[in-house]
Amino acid sequence: MGRAFHELCHREKPPRRGLFSRLPPKALPQPRRGPNVTGVPVQLTILGSGSAGNCAYLETEETRLLIDAGFSGRQIRQRLASIGRTPESLHGILITHEHSDHIQGLTSLCAKLQVPIYCNRLTKEAIELQLEARFDCRMFSTGATFEVGDVTVDTFSVPHDAYDPVGFLLRTVSGNIGFLTDLGHATRLVVERVRAANVLLLETNHDLKLLQEDTKRPWSIKQRILSRHGHLSNDAAAETAEQIVSAELRYLYLGHLSRDCNTPELAHQVVSGRLQRAGATHVRVESTFQDVPCPTLTL
Ligand SMILES: [Zn+2]
Ligand SMILES: [Zn+2]
Repeated sequence: MGRAFHELCHREKPPRRGLFSRLPPKALPQPRRGPNVTGVPVQLTILGSGSAGNCAYLETEETRLLIDAGFSGRQIRQRLASIGRTPESLHGILITHEHSDHIQGLTSLCAKLQVPIYCNRLTKEAIELQLEARFDCRMFSTGATFEVGDVTVDTFSVPHDAYDPVGFLLRTVSGNIGFLTDLGHATRLVVERVRAANVLLLETNHDLKLLQEDTKRPWSIKQRILSRHGHLSNDAAAETAEQIVSAELRYLYLGHLSRDCNTPELAHQVVSGRLQRAGATHVRVESTFQDVPCPTLTL
């Protein structure tokens, strides 16, 4: 990965190679294979996030992964191309659950590539039924930890109206990245499993008032969204962030926003306000978008 790529991705922001260097020694993430002496940076790009599609890309020295594939295959290819990457170089696609905003690109991507999908059994069955296709799946049991190259993947159950939805904590030599979207409420298990995150993608789905006032959605859908197996509101996400936050958490990405019932400004205001009041001024709160990738984060 050349310097040009690094600079391209950070046009408006200073380089973040020293992301964890300001932390006291006790707060440094514990690398599984010793410090990152290779000089190959670990990079995360949220290719897009929102209630109409979710996909992120993680790259380490040995491993290139997608986390969910909730855009068309063409969109995913285009968004990877915007950071100089192709689906052909992927080592795997991790899937949280079978809702279409997390899997709609799988058919097209996997028809052309020999890329394995990592998911649990119920999710595999639901995806194959829904997309009417068979996939090369490496199945894990929810709660299990496994490795893909030099990335260690922790999985944990989240309360959401899917067959067996999960969140992930991806452990790399440069830090831990948590994925926590699509959950109706934050269980103690969820909070414990992502507390080691240095970077976290957290759902801020809706603003309660905007959802209640929304005229497009019938009452039954609103009830589903608001249920304990639905989605986190901005307020619920702020409370969850406060429970999760540690000295090790450096970046908090706000994701899976409803297009009609939320705005990035509102979500940002609620969550960062809550963290400020809790004294967590060291956490940088970032917005994500449905239509465009976030600038690449180098850990
Ligand atoms: Zn979703
Ligand atoms: Zn979902």
